[in-house]
This record gives sequence, C-alpha cells and structure tokens, in this order.
Amino acid sequence: MIPPEPALRLDVDAAALTHNWIKLDTLSGRARAGAAVKADAYGLGVATVVPALWQAGCRDFFVAHWSEATAVAELVPAGAVSVLHGPLTGADAAFARALGVKPVINSLAQAQRWIAAGGGACDLMVDTGINRLGLPMVDLSDPLIKQLSIDLLLSHLASADDESPLNGIQLGRWNEARGLIAHRKASLANSAGIALGPDYHGDVTRPGIALYGGVPCAALAGELRQVARPHAALIQVRDLQAGDSVGYNATFTAPVTMRVGVISLGYADGYLRAWSGGGTMVHQGRTLPVLGRVSMDMTVIDLSAAPDLGEGDWIEVAYDLPHSAALTGLSQYELLTGLGRRFAR
Ligand SMILES: *Cc1c(COP(=O)(O)O)cnc(C)c1O
Repeated sequence: MIPPEPALRLDVDAAALTHNWIKLDTLSGRARAGAAVKADAYGLGVATVVPALWQAGCRDFFVAHWSEATAVAELVPAGAVSVLHGPLTGADAAFARALGVKPVINSLAQAQRWIAAGGGACDLMVDTGINRLGLPMVDLSDPLIKQLSIDLLLSHLASADDESPLNGIQLGRWNEARGLIAHRKASLANSAGIALGPDYHGDVTRPGIALYGGVPCAALAGELRQVARPHAALIQVRDLQAGDSVGYNATFTAPVTMRVGVISLGYADGYLRAWSGGGTMVHQGRTLPVLGRVSMDMTVIDLSAAPDLGEGDWIEVAYDLPHSAALTGLSQYELLTGLGRRFAR
C-alpha cells in the first residue's frame, strides 16, 4: 500500500536557485562558479538541486562524505564531482576510480594511497590557515605531490564573511602554493569569498549557502533569492477563551477569545524551540505568529488573521534565511541543514 502524502513539504524554487547560481557565476568574474552540494545540497535535496545547477551551467560539484558521492555522480558526467573528505582507505580510492569522482587529497598519506590505487585526476586541498582539512604548506614540496595529476588546487577561507587580515594571509599562501605545484585550475572562494574580489576567484569558485538563498556577507545582500520554502499541514483548529494557555509549560495565554491552529511541524523536523515566540507562518499573504513553545511534532499558530483555514490546509513557514538567523540565533547553514527527514523534498 502506498502511504498517504506526507504532511510536511520542502519546496525548492528552481528558478530562484538558477538565478542565484548565475548571479554568483557573474560575480566570480573570469572564474566559473561550481557548487557545494554536500549534506544533500544543504538539505534541499540533490535530486532537484544538481540537475537545475547543471542546466544553469555549473560543472563542478563538491560533496563532503564518500556516502554522498553516488547520488550526485549519477546526475552528472564523470569527473564533475569532488569528494572533500579525501580517501581514508584503499577502498575509498578504488571507489573514486570506479565511480569517476575526484578525491580531494588532504595529506601525504592520502596522496600515497591514491597513487597506490592507480591514481588519475584528483584535487588537492592545501591548508592556508583554517587549520582544519588540507595538506600543510610545508608538505607541498614532497616528491609524492609531484606524482599527482592535480585538476583543482583548493584552499578554504576561515573568515571570508569578515573583514579579517586572515583573508589576505590565506590569499598569499594560496598564491604561493599555485606557484609551487602543477595543477590545471585553482579555487579558493566560498560564497562570501566571491565578494572579496577578483584576487580571490582563481579559476573556480565554490559557493554553497548563497546558492540556497543564504546571505553570508553584506556585499551579497539584495542579490540572492529565497530558494527553500518549508510547508506544513494544519492538523487541528481550536477556539481559545481568554485565559486559556497553549502548549508545554503554558508559555502563552490567550488575552481574548482567539482561533488557533496546530501544524505538523516541530523540533524533530529542525524547527527548533528557538522559534518559540518569534516564528511566523504565512498563508496567502496573511501572517500567522507561532504561539507558545514549539513541540517535537507540532507548533501552535495564531489563526486570527485567517479564520477560514481548517484541517488539511497547507501553511508556509516564513523562512527567509538572514531574517530567520537574526530571529533565532541559529546560523543560516543550520537553518537549512537541520530540516528533517519528514519533509517531502
Ligand atoms: C562547504 C564548503 C564550501 C561552501 O561554503 P559556503 O560558505 O556555503 O559558500 C566551499 N568549499 C568547501 C571546501 C566547503 O567545505
């Protein structure tokens, strides 16, 4: 038996996604924009996101885990996917070769492992100051590195969204690395890095959050459109009397008679308790505030502005990323990647 339609839906606006990629590609100047599609395209779903980006002209896709590679590789030609976490085992290296994805080499041991597995085109991540993932600068002169066939020479900025002196320091080291080893293309900028200007662009940029409507820095404000629009079904409507309270710990009390609705969205879906008291829903331009505490599977909303709504109607969750982040204290990245598995994508 086919189960009924889920009561949560995440709409992905493919036109807005395409708009954002084209905008970021244009802002990347002579470089072309790729796309970070790790964590299932930041929670939006690679099955929708990757074909739309390919159609727009994107040719470089980045995932983090090996477990993410197949779903993306199935949607694009061989060689278009890079796996950032690198080959930790011979099995990872063999898998990359069989699937036609590029491993991102992050250490001398990984370089050795890739060569031992038969090698071929790979990417190389150099750590220029984030001190997270990547080959230390001092290892660039190791003879093993000369044996690699490096397609993309990458580094990653720690503070692209800040006016930090670290940006200039990392840029200098990345340029030094570019002079030291043979590679076909170079890449440094994430979304915010694109806004740092042409020196930071190289040949390929790697936007993630900005593709999906996040605004990582002031320079990109107003340039990007909202892509992810969560929707939830109304599962109950009730009328409160003045003095009735709502939800766990009764944190909201009705001041007057009012109609409220219960929607099938809660913190188990990534709609965290940080939204309690500040979140809003929208129906045909009408604003419906969250009342009381968000529960695991439900949120109560004020239907005063939409008394016509009833069980089974769909409500849009207001989810503009910069505004939502300011309201909840969550990052724009967390707001997207936290959306749970109960959403139909
Ligand atoms: C996630 C990631 C990106 C994208 O970063 P955004 O800030 O989302 O634009 C780019 N490069 C690497 C290596 C990443 O891990």
